[in-house]
Amino acid sequence: MSHLSLAQLSFDNRFVRELPADPIIDNYRRQVAGAAYSFVQPTQVRAPQLVCAAREAADLIDLDYSQLTSDFFTQVFSGNALLAGMQSHACCYGGHQFGNWAGQLGDGRAINLGEVKNSRGEHWTLQLKGAGPTPYSRTADGLAVLRSSVREFLCSEAMHHLGVPTTRALSLVLTGEQVRRDMFYDGNPQLEPGAVVCRVAQSFTRFGNFEICSARNDIELLKKIADFTIRTDFPHLLNEHEDITRETYVQWFEEVCTRTASMIAHWMRVGFVHGVMNTDNMSILGLTIDYGPYGWLEGYDPDWTPNTTDAQGRRYRYINQPQVALWNLAQLGNAIYPLIDAVEPLQEALNKYRHAYSQQWQIDMANKLGLRAVAEEDVGLIDELHKVFELTETDMTIFYRLLANLDLPLLTNADDKVLIEGIKLAYYAEPSAESAAAMATWLRKYLTRVQQDYIVYGETHEQRKARMNKTNPKYVLRNYLAQQAIDRATQGDFNEVQQLLQLLRNPYDEQPEHEHYFAKRPEWARTKAGCSMLSCSS
Ligand code: AMP
Ligand code: MG
Repeated sequence: MSHLSLAQLSFDNRFVRELPADPIIDNYRRQVAGAAYSFVQPTQVRAPQLVCAAREAADLIDLDYSQLTSDFFTQVFSGNALLAGMQSHACCYGGHQFGNWAGQLGDGRAINLGEVKNSRGEHWTLQLKGAGPTPYSRTADGLAVLRSSVREFLCSEAMHHLGVPTTRALSLVLTGEQVRRDMFYDGNPQLEPGAVVCRVAQSFTRFGNFEICSARNDIELLKKIADFTIRTDFPHLLNEHEDITRETYVQWFEEVCTRTASMIAHWMRVGFVHGVMNTDNMSILGLTIDYGPYGWLEGYDPDWTPNTTDAQGRRYRYINQPQVALWNLAQLGNAIYPLIDAVEPLQEALNKYRHAYSQQWQIDMANKLGLRAVAEEDVGLIDELHKVFELTETDMTIFYRLLANLDLPLLTNADDKVLIEGIKLAYYAEPSAESAAAMATWLRKYLTRVQQDYIVYGETHEQRKARMNKTNPKYVLRNYLAQQAIDRATQGDFNEVQQLLQLLRNPYDEQPEHEHYFAKRPEWARTKAGCSMLSCSS
């Protein structure tokens, strides 16, 4: 049903229509009280050029694919032209950053264009990231550079195809402007190519949109934004009279908790580390949002974070993500407390988060290992695997794909060497004798456990393998892959960006022509900026 031209898109801007606007329309940095957003125009750019557009995101708004390559498309999605019906604005929100309340943050470099209503009656907000300063830009420039925009564009779509809830990306456009960035925060700023990504989501509302209201004790605005969010994005919670009661808020918070649990379980399953889980980067819809210094576990290391800005405390390391999400939810709970006026239901909702997360984690681990279910006794098997991983650096993604190939005949082979042969490609270094023996022991235990399932459920190897390969991606957006695409795009060659988008459309499928992407991070990438370490500079 993607048949519309840009001019035919129909906008229904509920957020702007129903929530209070900042009365000031001049674009200067300020504190904005009593309003959910400020009107602001994108900044004009000199020479916009399309790098890549995603057809699947065009489908969301019924946009005909032929539009994606038009000059007008590039003008609109660089911020140079607005379509009839667009009402560009930036939202006010606050947030807890690295555990501390940071006050007003807001869309400092994001500008919402409006809500497209599609033929299915869905609303999709279009948002430019990097289209110039807004009242919320504080001391920064409102711009984004090519490297971080390639990363955001590709990862948004990659996560979607992995089945992880996420904001989407329609387009990536070079602006033709230069942007100054101190990538290493070492006092050596460089000029980099500027870029704009158009993000797409049913809503970009964050925990921080609610936190800022209660921090300012503006309960009226808090209620307005909460009611709007429930009516637009959680309409199934409304009763027959469509009024919103204390109970509705409780159910809403519970649903935010369970959606967040599901999102985090997905991250853990695919080895995604967000890197900056501040509450302003937590979506009220449970979507992955704000792709900055994120990364993918390569060698399995529970304490890894790609974010150099967080290298000291490692607050946002892989293994901590479920706990941090709970902490963030507790901040949201505090913020909406005035609507509920009781602690107990909020506590219960947080318990539901814990429960939902651990249930989903068990289901995911069962699928990752190809078991029908994780029983009490299997928890030890899983813990042992994680310990074995740490003996020799082991690529998580590659390991699980290879594990699916192994089957019972190996059990009768006593030789450790033969046993671990099938997973050796996942090792970053030659395992020590002790490490190889530990892996062989684990594989024997594992295959014995698999045998039980075969007997009880009559399952075949092919069935088990298919289930594992639906849960364990073959291809993820490893940082070094993104970096290679960035390096080439910086030279004006956009093929690799397009190629990666194509590859990551089917991350669970065997793609024999793309086997070379099923590779460990090369040694050169271990210490290269952008590949193993990323700062927040973007
Ligand atoms: P982040 O850590 O990227 O989620 O950003 C935190 C806050 O800083 C948000 O309010 C962003 O809008 C804002 N911000 C980040 N980079 C820029 C920039 N280059 N210009 C203006 N605001 C920015
Ligand atoms: Mg952010």
